[in-house]
Amino acid sequence: MTDGTRGDGRQHRRLTCTVCPKGCAVDVVLHNGAIESLEGAACRRGRESCIQEVLDPRRMLSTTVRLRHADRPLLPVRTCVPIPRDRIPQAMGQLREIAVEAPVRMGDVVFRDLAGTGIDVVAAESAPRQDDEGSDRP
Ligand code: SF4
Repeated sequence: MTDGTRGDGRQHRRLTCTVCPKGCAVDVVLHNGAIESLEGAACRRGRESCIQEVLDPRRMLSTTVRLRHADRPLLPVRTCVPIPRDRIPQAMGQLREIAVEAPVRMGDVVFRDLAGTGIDVVAAESAPRQDDEGSDRP
């Protein structure tokens, strides 16, 4: 996405729609935080996606968190739905601080209300418990 602000206060943005492989180039003009015009999107779905990207950009967040009492130290996790892009730094800070206790099953909620978004984080893999002592590791 490229940005530019003109002398009249209007902000011009060029996006590439990522909804389908056609990759339409979309030009958006914003005035006082509202969309004044949007051109170049060849379909309604792409148009709606570009409006979302300009007014409220969101991303799926996938990362790892510390895992205790398992056969590996990290657990892959992801948000249930995309979160606001500007909350990602705060979200990553919160997830760096937590540790999940095994056993955990794929889809289990491991963190609620990430960065105050109301969005939960779930395990992307299962991890059986493996106690430090008495484990069946050779
Ligand atoms: S605007 Fe429509 S046709 Fe163009 S890339 Fe987006 S989804 Fe595809």
